[in-house]
Amino acid sequence: MGGGPAGLIAAIALAREGVQTTLLAPKPPHTDHRTTALLGSSVDILKDLGLWALIERTAAPLRKLRLVDGTRRLIRTPEVLFEAMEIGLDAFGYNIANDALLSVLRTNLDSPRLRIVEQTAKNVSIDEDLAHVTLADGSFLGARLIVAADGRNSLCRQAAGIGTSKRPLSQHAVALNLSHSRPHNDVSTEFHTESGPFTLVPLQGMRSSLVWVCRAQDVERLRGATPDELSREIEEKSRFLLGEVRVDGPRGIFPLGVEIADRFADNRVALAGESGHVIPPIGAQGLNLGIRDAAEIARLAGEALRQGDDPGSKSVIAAYDLNRRGDIRSRAAAVELLGRSLLTEFLPVHLARSVGLEIASRVSLLRRNLMRAGVGSAANRE
Ligand SMILES: Cc1cc2nc3c(=O)[nH]c(=O)nc-3n(C[C@H](O)[C@H](O)[C@H](O)COP(=O)(O)OP(=O)(O)OC[C@H]3O[C@@H](n4cnc5c(N)ncnc54)[C@H](O)[C@@H]3O)c2cc1C
Repeated sequence: MGGGPAGLIAAIALAREGVQTTLLAPKPPHTDHRTTALLGSSVDILKDLGLWALIERTAAPLRKLRLVDGTRRLIRTPEVLFEAMEIGLDAFGYNIANDALLSVLRTNLDSPRLRIVEQTAKNVSIDEDLAHVTLADGSFLGARLIVAADGRNSLCRQAAGIGTSKRPLSQHAVALNLSHSRPHNDVSTEFHTESGPFTLVPLQGMRSSLVWVCRAQDVERLRGATPDELSREIEEKSRFLLGEVRVDGPRGIFPLGVEIADRFADNRVALAGESGHVIPPIGAQGLNLGIRDAAEIARLAGEALRQGDDPGSKSVIAAYDLNRRGDIRSRAAAVELLGRSLLTEFLPVHLARSVGLEIASRVSLLRRNLMRAGVGSAANRE
């Protein structure tokens, strides 16, 4: 359930696995102007689904990742540059506009095993053998398994009795796209500032997307700034790395927080995407986790069906929860730790972050393992 990227990918993957699937996806109320950096594991999954060649056409490769300590603190880390080539990859990932990604996914839903219902679920109830969904028009659907990709306020998660632990952060993310006078050379640059990361991610041509994590008190100023004022502020904050910049299109403002489900499946419901994990946009992990969720539940449901079993059985549900738990929890914890380490004024934390990065950047094995962990890639481990 859900017509966001996690739901669409789950539906395509389930149908490919031979699962008779109904995709419940109301028309989106507005365009998603954000961009997503799809990392190695997502690229592999999208390749398996036969979608990557279509997505790659409008995506920009991220061949290098530069980390710059943009704080004015006593202890600062020297600039660090990671190159995908060092771990045998052409790129760490590929950045794509969400509306372009969604458009490829929506135009590839054709399958005899996939039925699309453009409606909202109003109620979900679950009994021993079946989950029952009441639609907005009053009609009903029954399913042995619900893949709940219905976002952070998931109705399905509540119906399955799954709670969450929620930790709001004091920061917001301002997301926008811009054009610039100097080439980005396929380098994604993350400035670590006192309010959080300020990350420029290449788009195709002389364009990039920006995710600017800022404090609550700066939100109104950034929302109200004219495009010119904002462009000048970005030039300064990015130290003119991309030359003159021009903000194009709207800016999205997102309050940040961490919300992680207590379990990732229960009662015939498997959580995929933000219904199971909301994490701040640091290190491009959110949707990449969601895509791995989608692939895993499709694999387990397909396997169960091929063995003549119930795809929503207790054993499928337990296996999904177990298989996804480590990946989700460890990445959410790492992202939260990095976010908070930038905010704190506690000197030893700056020292630990600085020394940690310095060591990681110099010790080649650690450096390569760090890069591999970041992209969630299947690249060979040493
Ligand atoms: C500024 C920013 C930048 C980001 N950058 C990255 C990045 O570079 N890389 C990355 O991996 N992640 C990134 N993320 C995270 C990523 O955007 C999210 O993880 C992703 O969009 C979540 O997708 P989803 O499909 O889970 O949820 P959503 O996109 O929220 O989709 C949920 C869908 O469910 C539907 N729905 C809700 N309720 C119902 C109902 N009752 N019945 C039927 N349908 C329902 C909604 O209509 C919606 O279509 C970023 C996030 C932010 C805020």
